[in-house]
Amino acid sequence: MDPADKERLRQRFSRSLKKYVGHDEQKQRKIASRHRRAEQSDQGPRRRGDWSEDDETFEKIPKSAGSGAVTRQNHLDPDLPRATVVAVHHGRVALDTGEQARIAPHLALDPTLRLAVGDEVAVSSQSGQSRVEGIVERRSRLSRPDPGNPNHELVIAANVDVAVVVVSVSNPPLHVGLIDRCLVALDRGGVEPLICVNKVDLLEGPVDREQLQQKMAVYRDLSIPVLLCSTATGDSMGELRQQLQGKTSVLVGHSGVGKSSILNTIDPAGERQTGDVRDHDGKGRHTTSSSSLRSLGDGTRIIDTPGVRSFGLWQMDARELQASFPEFDTDGDRCRFSNCSHLQEPDCAVREAAERGKLSKTRYESYLRILESL
Ligand code: GDP
Ligand code: ZN
Repeated sequence: MDPADKERLRQRFSRSLKKYVGHDEQKQRKIASRHRRAEQSDQGPRRRGDWSEDDETFEKIPKSAGSGAVTRQNHLDPDLPRATVVAVHHGRVALDTGEQARIAPHLALDPTLRLAVGDEVAVSSQSGQSRVEGIVERRSRLSRPDPGNPNHELVIAANVDVAVVVVSVSNPPLHVGLIDRCLVALDRGGVEPLICVNKVDLLEGPVDREQLQQKMAVYRDLSIPVLLCSTATGDSMGELRQQLQGKTSVLVGHSGVGKSSILNTIDPAGERQTGDVRDHDGKGRHTTSSSSLRSLGDGTRIIDTPGVRSFGLWQMDARELQASFPEFDTDGDRCRFSNCSHLQEPDCAVREAAERGKLSKTRYESYLRILESL
């Protein structure tokens, strides 16, 4: 690693350390806060001026205490060197330094501290054997419910800057609802989206293209970059590579939209298999089911993970969902009830705006569909 990179890592680490709250400290704060709440409930509603400094800090601790919030028995010795997890195997991880490292028992035994590809870790070394001792707090994550315990969050990629949401104009057909669902999940995980509409070579002509542009305008209005691309003709491939420059990214989207083809175009050395949605024996064509992080040089990194096809939204309430539809904001403020779900409520300003075409009808429909599924 070159000295500039090392310095950057050190600075990033010391910043995360400032935010880090140890297990014991957290427990103390929780107990203190419970006491305060009990006292306050005797004294009637709390006024804003009553908030103490300590309270404020407590409020900032992430609400989801799943594996996203890295706390608990997580020893982060500032003197230990850092590395990035590029692959997770049973009982050990591969690091970007080329080392294979074991996982310290205090991490391995805690189901909320499972390592994910992209994690930044503190590594100790004893008689030539490396061991992961702690995880630096994640700045973003993609996750799904843990199959072993659906109430637990399973992080499938950590510290991702950009997720490329890949859809195709046809084969499989374009469903904007899927884009909206992805955007909510990404927003929740703190990952910036970029939309790639692939296979534009299959468009019939300028009319098709114009219709597609109109469909995508709503996302551009939300300041989300949209690229119309084709791995067959190379359309927008250079621009995509540029957008991912120096960042850690991941491609998300349904099977068959062209994710492997796109990755092979921007990272030819990766040699991924491409093919149709399913092979003849119906088992799918992917021989590998594990994730990996690849460095393309110049700081550009791509996480290849089969898990991102099924990352989702769970344990989310209507409030959180609305936060991922920022365009509802202005109208939402005018709703009759401050806790309006924008569903059936009389005089709902959001529903009216969608009916009048002031808000995108498809986005509003996506919102309703997601709300229903939660
Ligand atoms: P993945 O499942 O998302 O990884 O999709 P693949 O990369 O395996 O591609 C699925 C199929 O779509 C393959 O048969 C590819 O050859 C084809 N494909 C990929 N990109 C394009 C494109 O830009 N245009 C056309 N016409 N076909 C494409
Ligand atoms: Zn409303």
